[in-house]
Amino acid sequence: NIQPADRLKTLPEQFFAKLVGKANARAATGADIINLGQGNPDLPTPPAIVEKLKNAADNPLYHKYPPFRGYPFLKEAVAQRYKEDYGVELDPATEVAILFGGKTGLIEISQCLLNPGDVCLVPDPGYPDYWSGVALAEAEMAFMPLLERNGFLPDYSALGEDAVKRAKLMFLNYPNNPTAATASREFYEETVRFAKENSIVVASDFAYGAIGYGGKRPVSFLETPGSKEVGVEFYTLSKTYNMAGWRVGFALGNAQIVEMINLIQDHYYCSLFGGIQEAAAEALTGPQDSVASLVGTYERRRNTLFEALDEIGWQAKKPEGSFFCWLPVPQGFTSMAFADLLLEQADVVVAPGNGFGEHGEGYVRLGLLAPEERLREAIQRIGKLNLFR
Ligand code: PLP
Repeated sequence: NIQPADRLKTLPEQFFAKLVGKANARAATGADIINLGQGNPDLPTPPAIVEKLKNAADNPLYHKYPPFRGYPFLKEAVAQRYKEDYGVELDPATEVAILFGGKTGLIEISQCLLNPGDVCLVPDPGYPDYWSGVALAEAEMAFMPLLERNGFLPDYSALGEDAVKRAKLMFLNYPNNPTAATASREFYEETVRFAKENSIVVASDFAYGAIGYGGKRPVSFLETPGSKEVGVEFYTLSKTYNMAGWRVGFALGNAQIVEMINLIQDHYYCSLFGGIQEAAAEALTGPQDSVASLVGTYERRRNTLFEALDEIGWQAKKPEGSFFCWLPVPQGFTSMAFADLLLEQADVVVAPGNGFGEHGEGYVRLGLLAPEERLREAIQRIGKLNLFR
């Protein structure tokens, strides 16, 4: 009987694994499931990027170990994208770390900065991987409630004094998973002030950075004056270019933190396959029309879904960014009970809000990750349960 180390026992349960299990069990009965519960993009990677990888696979250079910290051309490519999209200058040599997807960096930064007993400020509701990193660092979390009345932004003035004093790191994530809210420049300016005053490092998770609606490009944290002094931004190709399976992400900004992340990674990995790095550079420096078209697709899906919600009387706030919709559950249900009901009686999978934290209770998250007619059908099936009128 082999016992794991204590730190492993502190890892939170993988909530999505449970969701997938329930959905699969239902699908095994032959049900026609519409799965809007997960965050896996349904669209393919643009063909030019795939083609680049196919050709690069033949390059014998890439069959050897890649440089420890990745190829300089990929760091230059992401720096160029930030310059064009956000007017942000990044030194590719010192202010860019290549990651195996954003997820690894989000875990590593806690190990880089937190000692046991330190506090990390974590959004609630929020992306559960932040918790895992803090747990592995054997540090503590203090939750920052994201309330609808505050536009799902944290209210720094409402945080406990003790938590703020002990905090060394905080996570922010806009466009937000799960609430679909976006952040303003003013909010980030306030964040930089708060971080400086309290010596807290900011980890801005910009996984949905490309996805903003109504013609509005989401603001990057790094656009804020002084941001590089206090933090880094995590950027990923997963959602912007439908490359979730390719595992390409970046930590960008503060050179000291980038160095710490590189140092940790030197011990775990030897960078990504060179062909993937070449294709990733193609994604970042090639024509960007696929990104505009992707945002257009999600916006049409959002509008279709909201027309269908309106028809059945389910009232909710339209997402400003990300590909999620954050919908209130009807009176008398917990998030989990409502999600279970939708699976059992409508064959629709949604993510119960409590899986993202205590303040997620009372909501469910739907992903705009199916064609418009399937989204409409999902809502029509839910409408037949007559829960909203
Ligand atoms: N951050 C958020 C908020 C996410 O929703 C995800 C993926 O779902 C990630 C980070 C991780 O993305 P990846 O590891 O694919 O770059």
